Amino acid sequence: MYEKIDKEYVLHTYGRKYIDFTHGKNATIFDDKGNDYIDFTSGIGVVSVGHGNDKLSDAICSQSKAIIHISNLFMIKPQAKLAKKIMELSGYDMRAFFANSGAEANEGAIKIARKYGEVEGEPKRYKIITLKNSFHGRTITSLKATGQEKMHNFFGPYPDGFVYAEDLDEIEKLCDDKTVAVMIELVQGEGGVEPQDRLKINKLSKFLKEKDILLIADEVQTGIYRTGEIFASNLYEIEPDIITIAKGLGGGVPVGCVMTNLKDIFSPGDHGSTFGGNYLSSVAGLSVLDILKEYKDSGLLDEVMLYFSEKLNAFAKKHSDIVIKSVGLGFMRGLRINSAENLAKIVDKAFENRVLVLKAGRNTLRFLPPLTITKDEIEKGFERLEKCF
Ligand SMILES: *Cc1c(COP(=O)(O)O)cnc(C)c1O
Repeated sequence: MYEKIDKEYVLHTYGRKYIDFTHGKNATIFDDKGNDYIDFTSGIGVVSVGHGNDKLSDAICSQSKAIIHISNLFMIKPQAKLAKKIMELSGYDMRAFFANSGAEANEGAIKIARKYGEVEGEPKRYKIITLKNSFHGRTITSLKATGQEKMHNFFGPYPDGFVYAEDLDEIEKLCDDKTVAVMIELVQGEGGVEPQDRLKINKLSKFLKEKDILLIADEVQTGIYRTGEIFASNLYEIEPDIITIAKGLGGGVPVGCVMTNLKDIFSPGDHGSTFGGNYLSSVAGLSVLDILKEYKDSGLLDEVMLYFSEKLNAFAKKHSDIVIKSVGLGFMRGLRINSAENLAKIVDKAFENRVLVLKAGRNTLRFLPPLTITKDEIEKGFERLEKCF
């Protein structure tokens, strides 16, 4: 019955599956008929501490009874604590601005870069280089920053100043005296779970520093321990000038954040958000970071990531007739499938067999499990996946 209501009243933006999920525990989620599903998606990299996490839900619940929102015209203590905590965990000497989504965090990053190009010397600079296979969001500007031309139908005219590079090697050649920033994902998510080459990233980072061109790391998907460290930039041992995060930070509560070493780039009035960093979302972020820091320190995160990786690699080998190779880092993983048709079939079959997986790019089966997934859940998920190949 609700399928009809959904189709009648909600815009048809998504190719939706009609199922009624009612509750979940960690990486297992249940429908209204009591069927259990193994969740290898964590709501597209969001439910980082799993479904029904008691600690997170207690934190949200008690905060909601005290105060949810007061606006950014007043100090919000948990927002300040969250910013400090992110800097402590990452070791970055930056300041943060809180928004509500990844696209919005990227809008903030683009504004920071544009302001830097405007006020920092002559000639004024505004160009931002991104990669052709990137994904940076769905707002008009973050969509234009997304280098996939096929996504640019219908919505123009777009803001000027975005330049697309085929790959990392081409970036240096495209830099000119109007270039103010380069924006990249260290592991491309939507583009097909494509980790960037470490040496090339280090070389690029050095080149940009010399040229005073800002490096923006879009860590909306890679951030918050998704690749094993709090930021993928920690893993790659680079120091971007601007970093954006969102997906995993609130554990399902919408939180976006842009942080930068240009600590005084904004003056009051330059940027803002009504909801961003309110009591509820900041407390959720703090709780998620507490849970994940403890999990990481216990050694379990690395142990289970390794376990997942071994399972995935063995699976790829066993099904080498269909799987080209296993790709990705940490809990941002994929299987490159030999055709888009087979991939579509596998995703549908996986759903029938009660394991949730994602697509990425043209032919990648994508896995973004909750970071707290257990070995048992992984085992069960791969057993179910076995029936789909
Ligand atoms: C998901 C994603 C975004 C967009 O985030 P929203 O919260 O959907 O706006 C931007 N960049 C990357 C790398 C992403 O994975």
